[in-house]
Amino acid sequence: MANSILGNNPSKVNWQGEIVSIQPRTRVWRYLTDNRTHYHLGYNLFIEGCSSEGKRLYTVAISEKQQLKMLFRIGDVIEGTAWTKQYAEREFSDYYRSGSFKILNRSVDNLEISAPPWIMLPPTMQTYEGRGARLLSKSLWETKCFKCIWANMANVEIQWDFDKDIKKYRFETFCYGPKSCKLYKMGRARSVPYKNRDSAIDDGYLDELCTEGRDEEE
Ligand code: SF4
Repeated sequence: MANSILGNNPSKVNWQGEIVSIQPRTRVWRYLTDNRTHYHLGYNLFIEGCSSEGKRLYTVAISEKQQLKMLFRIGDVIEGTAWTKQYAEREFSDYYRSGSFKILNRSVDNLEISAPPWIMLPPTMQTYEGRGARLLSKSLWETKCFKCIWANMANVEIQWDFDKDIKKYRFETFCYGPKSCKLYKMGRARSVPYKNRDSAIDDGYLDELCTEGRDEEE
């Protein structure tokens, strides 16, 4: 209990490995079914390699500025430093506050011609923000969609009690890709709990609002 309130003590780690996916890193605020707001924070690098904690597959959070400078892409072998997270239930990435990057081996051009999934340099936060996201099946996120620039694992905070500002935390999968993507599946509807009442259900209704600015092919 004390741990979830006070958090863990972050420690500095070194890591090294090959980038196997780059996705936007986001925070989503939920309040019943009235509101689902996506905040775009930077990127998550999914890396196969090793860290000084002994992890073999791990996620490193980086800022948009860092990605614009380094232009990381899938297949690059890189190393860097970072800090372990303070609140495990709030942050999907294993490591954040990363830096001291070094590219050990730059991948050859890996543009995927036969999208989906879309495997290329990820777009800016402004692009993700403008497109908006739909619910994505978690099993698709883990498999066919994992390398896609439009796939997303969000840090979700649910406003559980407004008066006392108590929140609940979990992780959810979303897709920013074209609505016509043939791989797309929404997955199960998601319940959104609130104190002293039945959970509200997000059954995709909010997806239409979140992506109303684009048509099927965009
Ligand atoms: S469903 Fe979304 S994340 Fe998956 S391949 Fe299609 S656009 Fe990419």
